Amino acid sequence: MNAEILSVGTELLLGNVANTDARDLSEELAKLGINVFWHTVVGDNPQRLMQCVDIARFRADLIITTGGLGPTCDDLTKETLARAFGLELYYDEAEAEGIKGWFEKSGRPFTENNLRQAWLPTGCTVFHNDWGTAPGCAFEKDGVRVIMLPGPPRECMAMYRHRALPYLQALSGQVIRSHTLRMVGIGESQMEDRLRDMMEGLRNPTIAPYAKPGECLVRITAKAESEEECDLMMEPVLREVYDRLGDYIYGKDVDSLEAAILALLKEKGVTLAAAESCSGGLLAQRLTELPGASEVFKGGVTVYTEEAKCRLLDIKPEFIAENGVVSAAVAAKMAKKVRKKLKSDLGIGITGWAGPDGDNVGLIFVALAWKGECLVRRLNGGKSPRDRQRIMAVNNAFDMVRRHLCGLDI
Ligand code: ATP
Ligand code: MG
Repeated sequence: MNAEILSVGTELLLGNVANTDARDLSEELAKLGINVFWHTVVGDNPQRLMQCVDIARFRADLIITTGGLGPTCDDLTKETLARAFGLELYYDEAEAEGIKGWFEKSGRPFTENNLRQAWLPTGCTVFHNDWGTAPGCAFEKDGVRVIMLPGPPRECMAMYRHRALPYLQALSGQVIRSHTLRMVGIGESQMEDRLRDMMEGLRNPTIAPYAKPGECLVRITAKAESEEECDLMMEPVLREVYDRLGDYIYGKDVDSLEAAILALLKEKGVTLAAAESCSGGLLAQRLTELPGASEVFKGGVTVYTEEAKCRLLDIKPEFIAENGVVSAAVAAKMAKKVRKKLKSDLGIGITGWAGPDGDNVGLIFVALAWKGECLVRRLNGGKSPRDRQRIMAVNNAFDMVRRHLCGLDI
């Protein structure tokens, strides 16, 4: 099955809002093995939307629209799609009652135009919206399947997961499940190299690699009669990938590296503190974005200048002068001092030249200190932009924590 995502909304064309719905839906559809060949964006204009539908219906088996399902007069996705496929709209009493009930419950003032949302294409499958008011829907006509989802990202993705996904799975009569393994410390080409024969040889389950900034992912997807069967089919493949790349894998089906590290610290009952220079507090930020971080993350300092390093961490200016502010010795000292000051089990020290100017741009040292020991990694970020350098530094710090806690070589 090949798909086109048709996002409707003038705000997308004006650049006020990024088309995250299309991105997030594509990511989900890939898990189902549905090829997304086109992303189209069109404004809230019925003629131009009609033109887009006319193009999409000839080249895609599945059209998923986002946006334009709401109550206002610029919301015309349902009318236009129904007209394009020669379907009448009908007034869905149950949805209308649901919309009225939603307003009563939430205490917001009800206006008649809200009932526009209860008009749906005849014969469609209604996707009731538990996350907002506008119902979505799906229908099949002339060999093309159409799914309509609301625009606000939270609603769009909830409606996808709870309504459109089961609908798509029921169509094929098969269940599709996937697992994602995430890795740090290995490049994409190296990862692919170790998995190439599996990627080429396997048909079901399939195995597909992805790269994200500072990390690599592998997704394993199986299609079968039941979830249990999918799991059974994926098990040997997962085991094989772990055999080949286990040291680099920080998590299976986890949200992020920081989430995996936080969980690991909690599991082991180990606390962490960080002294950051070139990463500017990114490590602290990424950890504290997660609920429950305070159980294991004691805190950190952003010691950007030499003076800050000396004053806040009691490092002697002569020590910095002797070693250079970007050095393994200073990174190690920062890690040890912050660990002592915050009485944590582990201390991180990060110092480096983020650039873009200077002779040693990209040279970064990341230190991990624990009781009686300290190890330092020397990184070379080359001429990557500053944000990449920061991500790389912090990912390495997390990776060192992970390796230390899992008893792997750092
Ligand atoms: P509503 O009931 O809120 O009107 P709707 O289905 O009519 O929902 P729109 O009116 O098209 O959706 O969009 C509502 C808001 O959702 C937009 O202002 C925008 O902030 C966000 N939005 C819409 N489409 C997208 C998209 N493709 N990606 C990200 N955000 C989007
Ligand atoms: Mg709207």
